[in-house]
Amino acid sequence: MNGTPRFAADAMLGRLARWLRVLGYDTWYDSAVADADLVRLAEDEGRVLLTRDRHLLRELRPARALEVRLDDPLHQLREVVRELALASPGELFTRCMLCNAPLQELGRAEALPRLPPGVQAMDGPVRRCPACGRLYWGGSHVRRMRAALERVLPGWGQEPAPTNPPA
Ligand SMILES: [Zn+2]
Repeated sequence: MNGTPRFAADAMLGRLARWLRVLGYDTWYDSAVADADLVRLAEDEGRVLLTRDRHLLRELRPARALEVRLDDPLHQLREVVRELALASPGELFTRCMLCNAPLQELGRAEALPRLPPGVQAMDGPVRRCPACGRLYWGGSHVRRMRAALERVLPGWGQEPAPTNPPA
């Protein structure tokens, strides 16, 4: 496989899709998509199809697919990482978990007024999704997700070294 793989996840794999986006992997997901459309989209866009559906694999024979066998989303993530020998990303939370868009980093002055009171003193980047507007920063939710990731993929969920955010 050339370059960084991109994914298309079936309707059963919404939480796995979110985790792949946390790692930065471009992952298409729509819970309402029909099987045939999902397979066509994956083929057209050169995506690896992730599915729990053996029937889909047998009937529609996608060119590049991985059958996900486990139930827990984080175990599924580890399964995908191992099966495809994915490399650990340098940084987490560079892509929106909800809509898959690459996030834009906000400058300090731009970010501060948008954050809730109490988190304004926090270091680290603040990123914004250009599609849905959601903000990502190193708050408790992100820390919990890092800890959960660290439990299944040791070394992958660690906090980045402190950096000076852009002014
Ligand atoms: Zn978004």
